[in-house]
Amino acid sequence: MTNDSSRGPEPRSRRRGPPRDALLASLGDTHVFLLDRRVAGSERRLDSLGLSSELAAAVSEHYRAAFTGEAKTFDFREGDRTCEVHLVPLPPPAREIPQELVAVVHDVTPRRRAEDLLARRVEQQRAIADLGQLALRSRDVEELLGHAVRAVAATLDADLCDIFELQPDAEELRLVAASGWPEGAVGSVTVANEPGAQVGHTLELRRPIFVEHLATDPRFVKRQPLLELGVVSCLSIVIEGREQPFGALAARARSRRRFSADDATFLAAVAAVLSSAVERHREERVTEHAALHDALTALPNRALGLDRLCHALARRQREGIDVAILVFDLDRFKLINDSLGHGAGDELLVALAPRLLAEVRPTDTVARLGGDEFLVVCEGLHDAREAIGVARRLGDAIARPIAVPSGRHHITASIGIAVASHADDTPESLLRDADAAMYRAKERGRGRYELFDDALRRHVLYRVRTDSELRRALDRSELDVHYQPVVDLRTGAPVATEALVRWRHPERGLVGPTEFIPIAEETGLILRLGRWVLERAVAEAAGWQDQLETPITVTVNVSGRQVADATFPAEAEEIVACAGVPPGTIALEITESVLMDELNSPAMVLGELHDRGFKLILDDFGTGYSSLSYLKRFSLDILKINRSFVSGIASNADDRAIVEATIRMAHALGMTVIAEGIETEEQRRRLAALGCERAQGFLLSKPLPAAAAREYLGRHVTTA
Ligand code: C2E
Ligand code: MG
Ligand code: MG
Repeated sequence: MTNDSSRGPEPRSRRRGPPRDALLASLGDTHVFLLDRRVAGSERRLDSLGLSSELAAAVSEHYRAAFTGEAKTFDFREGDRTCEVHLVPLPPPAREIPQELVAVVHDVTPRRRAEDLLARRVEQQRAIADLGQLALRSRDVEELLGHAVRAVAATLDADLCDIFELQPDAEELRLVAASGWPEGAVGSVTVANEPGAQVGHTLELRRPIFVEHLATDPRFVKRQPLLELGVVSCLSIVIEGREQPFGALAARARSRRRFSADDATFLAAVAAVLSSAVERHREERVTEHAALHDALTALPNRALGLDRLCHALARRQREGIDVAILVFDLDRFKLINDSLGHGAGDELLVALAPRLLAEVRPTDTVARLGGDEFLVVCEGLHDAREAIGVARRLGDAIARPIAVPSGRHHITASIGIAVASHADDTPESLLRDADAAMYRAKERGRGRYELFDDALRRHVLYRVRTDSELRRALDRSELDVHYQPVVDLRTGAPVATEALVRWRHPERGLVGPTEFIPIAEETGLILRLGRWVLERAVAEAAGWQDQLETPITVTVNVSGRQVADATFPAEAEEIVACAGVPPGTIALEITESVLMDELNSPAMVLGELHDRGFKLILDDFGTGYSSLSYLKRFSLDILKINRSFVSGIASNADDRAIVEATIRMAHALGMTVIAEGIETEEQRRRLAALGCERAQGFLLSKPLPAAAAREYLGRHVTTA
């Protein structure tokens, strides 16, 4: 096309001459041509008029149609220019067919460009709005990223589009979404995070990176795998993240292309949407993770552990995959917490978590139920033996010395195993079984595992039955208390009686405490039972003290559960006050194992009982493994040597040595000594010779019903 307007229109008169084409007028970007149909192809020299041959060809194409109809308008594009062409046939003289037409060629390049730009922007904005909506709706980041790359590829008309995610170590980037990449590339392709690679460069500069010719661009030394994919040009931008960038988003072309600033603006908007969506998703995941994981060890917490167990049991129902669980807690963990502080306990738990995980399969769950209690859910084990194998491995892993800043610790765990074996096993029933097995492991000495088997099932059933019967017994006053005198070895006079509970069972007759006290302790009924015995014994003491006019002491056995309860001292004081008995005439017996219970250390409660005037007796000394120096910290008044040593005192030199040493040390600590279970005269003699002050045993008196005990006391106190 030309702007040469000097030629002006041909004079009208010449139009009757031989047919020819002519430029009629040129005005700015608009040119008006007269075209004559009769000009034959070879003579047509539209290009001589300034019309490009391409436009001439386009006009010829529409030529015929223009003569048959009305005006014909079309767009003509050439390079980056656009012309609007109107073809208007000139009305012919009467009876002639139209032969001439006027072509108005109007260069609309700037307008069309503006329109195109606008349309592209509208399209881009729509793409961003769609993506934004999806980002709000979807919690699936993968889906969102996939949608983003497809939308960018379509909107920018790019051959490839991809997102690389920066890995936590910041060393590598992994392809996480792609359009136009080979199948299987997502998730498997990684590139090094270096400035000499196109993706790394984007992260380094944190602004849009335009690459027109990748192969020759001097900024890059690493061009794979992009060159392999035929990438020639690209535009990329960083997707920001909170601590470090999330990654990079890129549009790529396989033919040379110059991406525009507008393209970069669009890409930046997409990256911004993705950045905030990913960030929000990460935050959600963090909150979700915090809600379902233990903050200290990062292991699943109770809620998640139970949820995993639920799912495992559901899969068992559906697919027949076996499920076993292990429940365990750490032996003497409380001791570490109490002696070295909670920080040390925490360190231990944190150090233990990876050890536990290392011993189970990745599909198994290790959850912290709370405190030092853990749950392991194992799927796909074939029998109990395999579950036992897991328990062994866990037990060994826990038992390996643990070095943490607070020191080197040796710790063990008591592990209970339960294997789902019934169709109606529920998370609750399985946990209950595993718990029962764990308690059995503790009872049997800790640092070991126990499987919940038929024997344990029977024990549990027995316990449940005994517990309910015992409750009824309490309600129906089927319990009774017998009293065994405690005698002064020098004078032979009774100085106290020990209250020992009995059960007058309607079918089984008189049942001894060893058959039901352990169960009452397991179920917690001991609290009610213990209170009842104390009330009963204190009332009895009040009567005897009145009648005998001597402050005879009554000793009452109390269990660990009772002295673990901080309200016990006040309760005991109230009971003695109501009965009008001086607390100094009531002695409470606790066993060594109670003192060593690191979970519920009774030191405070014992101190308080002592302060309120109660005497404290350490029962069954020698059956635990504590040393006297350890026991010194408790305010104990009397030490009772266990029957097992007393029975050997006449025949066994070791027993004799132990008893002798115990008596000496007890005296050194200011404690009075009672020997229990004296059955022979010889035992009595030897104990008296060793300086033991008091004794108790069948030789002196069996435990007696209250009336008989009163009579015994009446006889011996007065005769003494
Ligand atoms: P313990 O407190 O060590 O009581 C001594 C036990 O030894 C009593 O058994 C008693 O009958 C028995 N005994 C006493 N002298 C002799 C003897 O010369 N030879 C033999 N072979 N045994 C003798 P019992 O009454 O069966 O009580 C057993 C355990 O039950 C008690 O041991 C105590 O730990 C517990 N117990 C009894 N009553 C209560 C109670 O009211 N509360 C709690 N928490 N425990 C109780
Ligand atoms: Mg006792
Ligand atoms: Mg005893």
